[in-house]
Amino acid sequence: MQKHTAVLEKRETEKSMQDFLDSGKIYCANCIHCKLVPTPAESSPGQFYLRVRCDAGKWKKKLGGEKIYKYFTVTRRSIDCCDSYESMGDDDNFISDLRNNLPIRDELYDK
Ligand code: SF4
Repeated sequence: MQKHTAVLEKRETEKSMQDFLDSGKIYCANCIHCKLVPTPAESSPGQFYLRVRCDAGKWKKKLGGEKIYKYFTVTRRSIDCCDSYESMGDDDNFISDLRNNLPIRDELYDK
């Protein structure tokens, strides 16, 4: 059942991603400033989660401070425009490949 739910979630994500690809927005995942960072798992010493951050400092919390996101959500990070955006190449193919290879949930990794 859990696998079936995951497949449905992935299909829904693929549909919304295709809608998004057609919208012409900027994907942060395709920007040179979008950085993958390991974050230690406090409850599991020796393991870490993957997070993404904008090293141009564009991702902010409402009350200040830097906002970071879970890696598996990186293809959802998009904006209409950004004065610091630096494309790393072909958006559509890159995002499609990334979407197909991302984990479907927040996963723990061993060091
Ligand atoms: S610089 Fe702009 S486009 Fe690039 S990751 Fe940051 S917010 Fe996204």
